[in-house]
Amino acid sequence: MNINPTWTDARIERLTELWRDGMSAGQIAKILGGVSRNAVIGKVHRLNLCHDVGHDSASKIRKRADDKKRAAKRDQIDRDRAMREERRKAAALGRAKKLAEIEARAVPPSPVVASIVRPAPLNLSLIDLGANDCRFPVSGEKASTLFCGHNVEHGGTYCTYHTRVAYIPREVRLSKKRAA
Ligand SMILES: [Zn+2]
Repeated sequence: MNINPTWTDARIERLTELWRDGMSAGQIAKILGGVSRNAVIGKVHRLNLCHDVGHDSASKIRKRADDKKRAAKRDQIDRDRAMREERRKAAALGRAKKLAEIEARAVPPSPVVASIVRPAPLNLSLIDLGANDCRFPVSGEKASTLFCGHNVEHGGTYCTYHTRVAYIPREVRLSKKRAA
């Protein structure tokens, strides 16, 4: 028994049916008659029909749009991550190329320098490097970088050969500048 004449059991049943069919509150109010759209909304809430799975409520449509936006954002994040990884690889390759260029440019220009033979690197890791071992990186990068490891020139950072490699290009650059 319903004490409110607007919502007889029969009308509540009809309201529930129409709502499940996906009708809007306004449409239902017109069909039932004698009841406002707001009254229908209120009743739908009281009957707990608003979360009915069959009904495409505005909030559900909004949620779908949000899901789409979130998916697009995830795609963008994935693309950004891939791009950063590419840039990181390119940078690492660039560093290796630069070191190779420096070494190539250091081809001994004078008989004195020509007498210095490139030592076969001992390939020491950073942990194995002693205070008097050459710190010129010969392969790898970051934590896996391996170093020359030969005895350093007195008070220096590099062995005789790598001191040349590290400092000659600068001298060459400076002398070129002076010549220009
Ligand atoms: Zn060295």
